[in-house]
Amino acid sequence: MRTEERDHVFLIISPSLRPDLARLESAVGSSPLTRFAPSPTGYLHLGHVVNAIYVWGIARALGGRVLLRVEDHDRIRCRPEYEAALLEDLAWLGFEADEGVDPLARQSDTPSVYEGALDVLRASAQVYACGCSRKDIGGERYDGRCRTRGLTAVNGRGIRVHLAEGAEVFEDALRGHCVQAPAEQCGDLLARDRDGHWTYQFAVTVDDTRQGVTLVIRGADLVSSTGRQIRLARMLGRQIPPVFLHHPLIHDLRGEKLSKSAGDTGVRQLRRAGLTAPAVIGIAASRVGLAETGSLIHASEVSRLFAH
Ligand SMILES: [Zn+2]
Repeated sequence: MRTEERDHVFLIISPSLRPDLARLESAVGSSPLTRFAPSPTGYLHLGHVVNAIYVWGIARALGGRVLLRVEDHDRIRCRPEYEAALLEDLAWLGFEADEGVDPLARQSDTPSVYEGALDVLRASAQVYACGCSRKDIGGERYDGRCRTRGLTAVNGRGIRVHLAEGAEVFEDALRGHCVQAPAEQCGDLLARDRDGHWTYQFAVTVDDTRQGVTLVIRGADLVSSTGRQIRLARMLGRQIPPVFLHHPLIHDLRGEKLSKSAGDTGVRQLRRAGLTAPAVIGIAASRVGLAETGSLIHASEVSRLFAH
């Protein structure tokens, strides 16, 4: 969302809520593969439900498939009880994935995949050890200070990938034409952190590439990650990047993005309060403007929300 000053009146300009399905289909081809990729670092809340509505709604409207992927690359914050709860809540809501369920597609089960991707990058880019802490870097952009230090990759050091200058251009299915310059935004990309964990940026790009995801549907808070993920995917050998759609987020009463601690917006709390699954999906849809307040929407019917 952006604001524009026009005749001294500030207008809120929202990106459109629904993609042009015909245009999206011509961009992704028939039967696209998209993914629902929660992290088991907390319980599902209405923000996840909004994402599920977009993922299943658009996948079904285009005759596509949904992959469930458990993004547990952060081994410190992820917990098995959250994973069990998110699977249970998803089943209760009625969202059924086509792939990744049995066996469960879980990042922590495939460490060799990420090691292999790093080897691929080593052949074409500079991959180096970085001894800097978050505090040393201070801010989002890393200035590349360890690129010429020749540090050995040992425990306690991260691994970075050199990103060359230049822009990445993509057409977001809701936001339109986007141009990002990853080297200016974030500098050399951290692939593995100092604790030995694969980073979000690296793990999801490797997964989207190897799993053949052709349509990435996620919240607007991740739009700034897209240019660097497209760049990294190309460095990994992916010629045609996925199509991206960044949908609106719902906010709490203080105007902040919902988090796992968001009390009354948790799916478990709403269940305990006696709401049905169609009522919970209806609340999530109405909070972003996809449905009227009080709507009851079955998970199997969310594609109707995207019909023009
Ligand atoms: Zn460094």
